[in-house]
Amino acid sequence: MSRIRLTVSERIWRRVHKTDTCWVWTGARDGPGWYGRVTDRHGRMQPVHRLTYEEAYGPIPPGMVVDHRCQNKQCVRPDHLEAVTHGVNVRRRNKPRSLGEEDSVTSAAPSQLEFELKP
Ligand SMILES: [Zn+2]
Repeated sequence: MSRIRLTVSERIWRRVHKTDTCWVWTGARDGPGWYGRVTDRHGRMQPVHRLTYEEAYGPIPPGMVVDHRCQNKQCVRPDHLEAVTHGVNVRRRNKPRSLGEEDSVTSAAPSQLEFELKP
């Protein structure tokens, strides 16, 4: 029996539990309450939410980090993710906020973004 080679994307979506709000990663994590990690096609460990973000929106600009608008670190739903500068990310970490607040880089609230991800 030959092994089927799955793409990174397929391996990710098999381990995602989609709820009405967040899409929760159920695979390996760095630790409890921390980011999910997978090995990308170059053999490097990557946070899962970075890969799902790139799949939906394209490459993350250099120097940017992917922040969770929903504050759920296990969430990999692209419309809950946002590329921000490291400074913004740190500032947000110290200031709890809700989805759709004004300080976000993109002006669209998650509910306004519509696209479909093919598993
Ligand atoms: Zn979420």
